[in-house]
Amino acid sequence: MATYVYRFSEGDKDQKELLGGKGANLAEMTNLGLPVPPGFTISTDACRAYLSKGTVPRAVYVESNVAMREVEEAVGREFGDPKDPLLVSVRSGAKFSMPGMMETVLNVGLNDETVEGLAAQAGDERFAWDSYRRLIQMFGRTVLGMPGEPFAKVLEDREAASGAGTEVELGAEDLKAVVEEFKAQVREHTGEDFPQNPRTQLEMAIEAVFASWNTERARLYRRRERIPHTLGTAVNVVSMVFGNMGETSGTGVCFTRDPSTGHSGVYGDYLQNAQGEDVVAGIRNTLALADLERIDKKSYDELRRIMRRLETHYRDLCDIEFTIEQGKLWMLQTRVGKRTAGAAFRIACQLEDEGLITTDEALARVTGAQLSQLLFPQFDQHADRELLGKGLGASPGAAVGGIVFDNAQASEEKAKGNDVILVRRETSPEDLPGMVDARGVLTSRGGKTSHAAVVARGMGMCAVVGAESLGVDEAAGVLRVGDTELHRGDTIAIDGSTGEVFVGEVPVVDSPVMTYIADGLDAAHAAAEGDEETLELVDAVHRLLSHADDVRRLRVRANADTGEDAERSRKHGAEGIGLCRTEHQFLGERRVQIEQVVLADTAEQREAALAELLPLQEQDFTELLRAMDGLPTTIRLIDPPLHEFLPDLTELSVKVAVAKERGESDPHDVELLAAVERMHEANPMLGLRGVRLGLRLPGLFALQIRAIAKATVDLRAEGLDPRPEIMVPLIGSQRELQLVRDEAEAVLAEVGEESGQKLDLPIGCMIELPRAALTSSRIAEEADFFSFGTNDLTQTGWGFSRDDVEGAFFATYLDNGVLTISPFETLDADGIGKLVEAGVEGGRATKPSLKMGVCGEHGGDPESIHFFHRAGLDYVSCSPFRVPVARLEAGRATI
Ligand code: ADP
Ligand code: MG
Ligand code: MG
Repeated sequence: MATYVYRFSEGDKDQKELLGGKGANLAEMTNLGLPVPPGFTISTDACRAYLSKGTVPRAVYVESNVAMREVEEAVGREFGDPKDPLLVSVRSGAKFSMPGMMETVLNVGLNDETVEGLAAQAGDERFAWDSYRRLIQMFGRTVLGMPGEPFAKVLEDREAASGAGTEVELGAEDLKAVVEEFKAQVREHTGEDFPQNPRTQLEMAIEAVFASWNTERARLYRRRERIPHTLGTAVNVVSMVFGNMGETSGTGVCFTRDPSTGHSGVYGDYLQNAQGEDVVAGIRNTLALADLERIDKKSYDELRRIMRRLETHYRDLCDIEFTIEQGKLWMLQTRVGKRTAGAAFRIACQLEDEGLITTDEALARVTGAQLSQLLFPQFDQHADRELLGKGLGASPGAAVGGIVFDNAQASEEKAKGNDVILVRRETSPEDLPGMVDARGVLTSRGGKTSHAAVVARGMGMCAVVGAESLGVDEAAGVLRVGDTELHRGDTIAIDGSTGEVFVGEVPVVDSPVMTYIADGLDAAHAAAEGDEETLELVDAVHRLLSHADDVRRLRVRANADTGEDAERSRKHGAEGIGLCRTEHQFLGERRVQIEQVVLADTAEQREAALAELLPLQEQDFTELLRAMDGLPTTIRLIDPPLHEFLPDLTELSVKVAVAKERGESDPHDVELLAAVERMHEANPMLGLRGVRLGLRLPGLFALQIRAIAKATVDLRAEGLDPRPEIMVPLIGSQRELQLVRDEAEAVLAEVGEESGQKLDLPIGCMIELPRAALTSSRIAEEADFFSFGTNDLTQTGWGFSRDDVEGAFFATYLDNGVLTISPFETLDADGIGKLVEAGVEGGRATKPSLKMGVCGEHGGDPESIHFFHRAGLDYVSCSPFRVPVARLEAGRATI
């Protein structure tokens, strides 16, 4: 009865949570009858037990030993047998792939005795000693925590001494010497001998893989990718197969389709006489997969068959790691492959065209995050550009920035507010912090499957790799190309689609997908004429976005404050405005009028000041409603505390004090200062704002409502169809809304009467205080609609002040796992979501058809949109640029 250990024959691809992605897919391939070396998976349960106790439960080792015996039987060799040893790899593998972030140790089971047995069995001394030195090197670094340099130094010295160009040229005797020196290094650095007992090696390696879950870089990667720290990793113990047994052996990585264009074909890298990491590390230059046909046709044909089989089985692009041992093909890993945003759209449509998936499934295969990447601007093809060199476009985007060569430089420049491009010969997991700080990454070595490429694609950041004409000297801080030398801070521009690298600034232009979104399909076709790939991409986006529009229930509105924004929103497909903020309309030149309203001594004075604002407000609303003709337009009455529109307290105090000193006091300033002092609040976010201000300062809301009413009347007179909705912010009780409604209805009746029209405009409110959410059934009696203000609801529900917390302690909270993501970015469904649900339930209880939406940042966030769909809202409202993303995600939410 297994608690921690599962044979490959016991799992399947859907058990990623328990077995990790690698383990689940090794099990799936085993059960498909593909050639997977025998092995087993230690579950993530074991890792979680380790993480909470700090030691590996003994049962894990016991179950592993039992499973190991079965592997021994299947392979026909014994672990630790000095004559014919079984060797294994100990591989990490979490639920979500974290390329290169955790540890793997190969050749476990080799020691001073078994290495002789391996040599005798293989008839190849060199191979055996090469495997042994790899074990000590990997074990030293990952299990014993040693730095890599001493090992690299030993190899370098040995290469130099024996006249070998690379490590591949080192002979058996050299490698024996290397092993001795490696062992000495281990002793020197750890004070202990390299463990000779295979079982000790295995146990230590298992624990090291578990521990690697919590390395600094793994935590950083998870924060970025929003992977919870609590999942833990599984460990896969896999019997070794050897790609380093001479020229008839080798190891490779391949994709069933091109991961950047989506076209089917033969994509991958192969390296003869090599083991494991050699391919991804980019240390030696790889061959193209197509070359394998020439080298070993039998294995090549079998691999092609398996690739097709896997793609059909997973019905998606797969990436694959394989090894050939003396002409025999072995499958070491597969998973549904990461891909660029553009490829995701094209692959989904291609698979649908090939009849492998339905349109719904195709839609499910693309994400709003990918769509938003495609909307990014690109380099202007027609601009004057100085080409510095060309590499492989490994992850699309257009990045411009100053050169930095390492993590420290990247973080320094970022702190100064500079955009940077991380330039490295090749990257390794240690470079992750620098990549996070950079706009793009450029390497001179490595292929599309190199570390830099894989990680950048995962993060959606621009990357160019393998630009071999560039000489990168990180230590000296120089990037050399021919006679050109560039240094830290020099500006370069990299194009992650074409692989081009330019010197200096390059202007950027709209992407073809943005052209499609803003100006329609014909315009995008015209702009992309002759460029097959772009045409295909635009068509794919059009197809999937149209399908999303067909299936989604949620309407999508935009947050827009001006006629111009409103027009843009319409072009992007917005079906109304969910939030027009009216506060900016009181800034600039109108500040003076607001001051007068505040300073007014009598009701008459105040009304006179307000009356001056009326025509200005009316004009604002006329423009907005004209642009949104025929579509609902929610206008929020003024929300922030009034003092935000007045001069800063400190500045004004100083000004008045200085003037007084000079004996030239300005009475207006003195009066203003008194008002500013009177209105000063310790916690303005919780103070006199929203409806409270409206009720405290008679005439302010009435002015805005009158302006809305008059704009409506005028536009109707022109034969248009304006549809304003009046929204009251920061309601906490039914009575507040009732008071505003009474005031509003009076104004509407008055304006209606003057114009001979009937004006029954919808009057509703924001639900953005916990009390409003909890008493929504009563508030609904006074409301024609609700709009959830999830920013304020998050602030007040958590008791976080948004303007203060992000810098103050969110970093700590994200690090220690209190938060996995800022609740201002993705709605906290477990907590604040409950308030939304309560608000919906109460509102619908009173008025079953009450219209409800959400405005604020969350309305454009994919995960939150799925929540709002489930909660039964009618629409989301987000910034104009997020509208296409919201349309897509609202469609995906129904699938
Ligand atoms: P990662 O998750 O970083 O890709 P892996 O666990 O896949 O790490 O292992 C790293 C490399 O070692 C891979 O290239 C893989 O092909 C190779 N490898 C792992 N296990 C074996 C094995 N049993 N035999 C031969 N090569 C292996
Ligand atoms: Mg791998
Ligand atoms: Mg609010």
